[in-house]
Amino acid sequence: MSSKITRLRGMYDVTPDQVWVWQKLEHIVTSVLNQYGYQEIRFPILEKTALFHSAIGEVTDVVEKEMFTFETRKGESISMRPEGTASTVRAVLQNGLIFNDPQKLWYNCPMFRYEKPQKGRNRQFSQVGVEVFGFDGPDVDAELLLMTKKMWDRLGIKNVRLEINTLGTAECRAAYRDVLIAYFEKHADILDADAKKRLHTNPLRILDSKNPALRALIADAPMIKDYLSDASQQHFQQLCEILDDCGLVYEINPKLVRGLDYYTHNVFEWITDDLGAQGTICAGGRYDRLVEMQGGKPTAATGFAMGVDRLVELILDHDLWQNEPQTQVFLIRDKQVPDAKVIAMSEQIRNELPELKMTVNMGQASFKSQFKKADKSGAQFAIIIGEEEMNQGVFSLKALHDRDFGQKQFTFAELVEFLHQL
Ligand code: ATP
Ligand code: MG
Repeated sequence: MSSKITRLRGMYDVTPDQVWVWQKLEHIVTSVLNQYGYQEIRFPILEKTALFHSAIGEVTDVVEKEMFTFETRKGESISMRPEGTASTVRAVLQNGLIFNDPQKLWYNCPMFRYEKPQKGRNRQFSQVGVEVFGFDGPDVDAELLLMTKKMWDRLGIKNVRLEINTLGTAECRAAYRDVLIAYFEKHADILDADAKKRLHTNPLRILDSKNPALRALIADAPMIKDYLSDASQQHFQQLCEILDDCGLVYEINPKLVRGLDYYTHNVFEWITDDLGAQGTICAGGRYDRLVEMQGGKPTAATGFAMGVDRLVELILDHDLWQNEPQTQVFLIRDKQVPDAKVIAMSEQIRNELPELKMTVNMGQASFKSQFKKADKSGAQFAIIIGEEEMNQGVFSLKALHDRDFGQKQFTFAELVEFLHQL
């Protein structure tokens, strides 16, 4: 006997009992994005590996150890996208979308990272990402934060906090970088292998380390805020003022970094304590230098990505939503009524009521077993097609939960009118 083949580690199926959460979440998030005038963009799952190396940076967890990379038959190195910013920048440049126009874009798609699977950390996971090109002011950063807050409100997610920080401009960071290297060099004995490797290539990334042994060292490290230019400070200040005026609560976390070289000015994370260690549900910031680094004209840019898998987990773990029945009406049929008649009648109903969610019982079964299935489906009503109904061209409708309603006979027109109100 052959053995069953199972799915890959760190990859998950979304079964029908949970898929409604994904659908509802996507619907709510998309409607907020539409409300703010953002447009969807789609790009391929596979890209040239070089794109991610140059856009994300060589010295990052993602590029160093998390990419699904392989060679094509012709020997070209390609990778499955681990995130969406690199592809979006490539796509807007390749399609001439930001030549003279600003763009407010979003995507919702699976990403792939070869990470150690654990709660909140999968090898395939979905991100809703937003990337905005052509606006350098703090107004658009504020809009992004208010838009994400609106999403949490609409999704019913409460226990979530916003942390923000600024990384200043590249020049501010260069000065800070030197001080940071000197500080970590002084404590080189405490650094782990990853941190040592990053010390001279990307020391900011050490601040983002998840290693508990480095926590105290990181807590005492010099802070970027002491190395910011006046202009950088002002940019951040203005963002804080807008958020204050709009009543959006935030904490300034001076240690918050997005370790990549292209980040400038404002960075942020939305964090919940309801998910354990992997509590960041949304992260982003300004990346004013990336478009130029990818061969475009200097273009201000800002964005974020939220982890849809973590949001779904949060909603399911804490029972934030009630499932609505997938079936409103269950069609039950007598054995005497031929298939052709049943199918034709149900098609007639569907043509009149395109929004109605109706399940038709397939095959022959006793009334008792069909009613059991109808109950299990969560339907409000059963339509019964018996011999009598077939001969007289009428439909019996039985309420499955409402005793007062009982069972009534309708003509086709009456049935349609009644079901229309569901
Ligand atoms: P972390 O610090 O948790 O590794 P990251 O900095 O690698 O996160 P980003 O690249 O900024 O994460 O991705 C944005 C969001 O996407 C994260 O905040 C998280 O919600 C989600 N995310 C990232 N990696 C995974 C993963 N492997 N599984 C599930 N969700 C993920
Ligand atoms: Mg990561």
